[in-house]
Amino acid sequence: MKEVKSPKKPLIYYYSIVLLIIFLFNLFITPMISQSQVVEVDYGRFMDMIEEEDIGVVQVEDTQILFTDKENTVVYKTGPMEDPTLTQRLHDSGAEFGRVIEEPTSPLLSLFFTTILPILIFVGLGQYMSRKLMSQAGGKNAMSFGMGKSSAKVYVPSTQGIRFSDVAGEDEAKESLQEIVDYLHDPKKYTEAGASMPKGILLVGPPGTGKTMLAKAVAGESNVPFFSISVSEFVEMFVGMGASKVRDLFKQAKEKAPCIVFIDEIDAIGQKRNSGSGYGGNDEREQTLNQLLTEMDGFEGNNGVIILAATNRPESLDPALTRPGRFDRRVPVELPDLKGREEILKVHIRKVKPAADVDLHTIARMAAGASGAELANIVNEAALRAVRNGRTIVCQADLEESIEVVIAGYQKKNAVLSDQEKRVVAYHEIGHALVAALQSHSAPVQKITIIPRTSGALGYTMQVETGDKYLMTKEEIEDKIATFTGGRAAEEVAFGQITTGASNDIEQATKLARAMITRYGMTEEFDMVAMETVNNRYLGGDSSLSCSADTQNKIDRKVVELVRTQHQKAKQLLEQNREKLDRLAQFLYEKETITGEEFMEILKGEEKE
Ligand code: ADP
Ligand code: ZN
Repeated sequence: MKEVKSPKKPLIYYYSIVLLIIFLFNLFITPMISQSQVVEVDYGRFMDMIEEEDIGVVQVEDTQILFTDKENTVVYKTGPMEDPTLTQRLHDSGAEFGRVIEEPTSPLLSLFFTTILPILIFVGLGQYMSRKLMSQAGGKNAMSFGMGKSSAKVYVPSTQGIRFSDVAGEDEAKESLQEIVDYLHDPKKYTEAGASMPKGILLVGPPGTGKTMLAKAVAGESNVPFFSISVSEFVEMFVGMGASKVRDLFKQAKEKAPCIVFIDEIDAIGQKRNSGSGYGGNDEREQTLNQLLTEMDGFEGNNGVIILAATNRPESLDPALTRPGRFDRRVPVELPDLKGREEILKVHIRKVKPAADVDLHTIARMAAGASGAELANIVNEAALRAVRNGRTIVCQADLEESIEVVIAGYQKKNAVLSDQEKRVVAYHEIGHALVAALQSHSAPVQKITIIPRTSGALGYTMQVETGDKYLMTKEEIEDKIATFTGGRAAEEVAFGQITTGASNDIEQATKLARAMITRYGMTEEFDMVAMETVNNRYLGGDSSLSCSADTQNKIDRKVVELVRTQHQKAKQLLEQNREKLDRLAQFLYEKETITGEEFMEILKGEEKE
């Protein structure tokens, strides 16, 4: 671990100097520069002058009204009042609406002294220090101690009244969070049953999918205070700051319980320790993390503080955070599918005036892969474009144009599949599902989607086992292997081409085939001979082979044979059902997510013909 504690003292030292300089500037120089001859008068005097038609130029602002007399010799200032006819009366009195020059001195000069110079000093000092730190910390990641962010927004208790209905789509996430809302409404019901709520819930999903909104909605629905803290903002600040903020936050939260505490970007502190990345020695992060863990362990299950945290990199989190009693529940918040995108667009289009020709379905289709935040942005860009063209009404062309503006931003991030890729993924997933459905022993599919997942999968097919299964027959295992190969088989059948998309399938199929031989004794050749010893059945099946090298070779060959047979079978099944494959894949390509029922409908619908 690298020690980078030494900057502690100099940091505060330098900051104090800067603060002192700014203070002096404001005390002596600023008044000198901006000394202007503004005379403050009461509102009555202002009204009198209007009556006497003695107003030259007037400038009405939210917080003050500035005006001059007819000769423009004196600048007056008064506070604003509720006065609906003011504008008309001013107009009648012959006043001119315009800017009242408040500061006779060059505004540029004063801007320089009051704002730019202190900023320059800040930036300069920051650079100097980070360079100094760079040499101290061996150049590794020293920038994070710099002054990239100077303000740490810590917590905002807020009741903005966001409800679940404001979050479009994301039905599954809402459903899982509903329980929390129930609990906060009536904690007694749960305590009486001896049930305790999870202390921490992890909202997992890509940026802009509405995690923050969902957390606020939980607070809004349960009508409890909402505290939020964005970790990345303070973790780079003074040493010891993060931990004390966390302590402070929890102190307040406990006083206000029941309440929601929301920790955004938890991966900024919750990253695996000693991960070997540049963060290896950042003990500021570690301190903050430790404080968070201490706080979470410190309160009992039912004190009404529910912690929601958001991350888009769940795999990089320190295991200490996801241990039972901490963030032990996960709620996936995935990118919206076509229907979800349309719903989100509907929510945001309410803020503007859409023309009659606006067709959100088409926009949703064009914006494949966009997140909720990006969709909100598309609507906003469209409104801006309308204004640029001198309109207040947003039309379809505005929306279509702004998709390109916004998409250009995110396509670079590589988050979006090209059209062809989407087609391939659709065939791949339908391949799995169709092979499963065509074999009598396979479990029916529940849901198929080609929306890229947080896990990195481009699509997935969710199967449900009907009832709990403890025993599997040899045929069932074979069918399962065939289902795993179904994705690749569909690519071959439809495109005559194969892609890298099947790597996980290959792993799974191989594992099953190997287990058939070495653990379940399901092959003629090896009969019921144990080839493998499972060391720890409960911890992920850590196992070792216990056989001769020659046997190992034979096993390997048998594995290949088993998988190949099933792969051929899958291919054959798909070729025989080519039409169904095409139709289902096209349907999935268009809708992006289909349910098991829709799948079966299409499958059966064709059989009737
Ligand atoms: P995250 O926390 O997941 O990064 P946010 O909750 O901050 O995302 O969402 C950012 C913005 O995107 C929101 O303020 C909202 O305008 C828009 N948005 C995202 N998801 C949705 C959704 N499901 N429904 C409506 N608006 C959404
Ligand atoms: Zn697959």
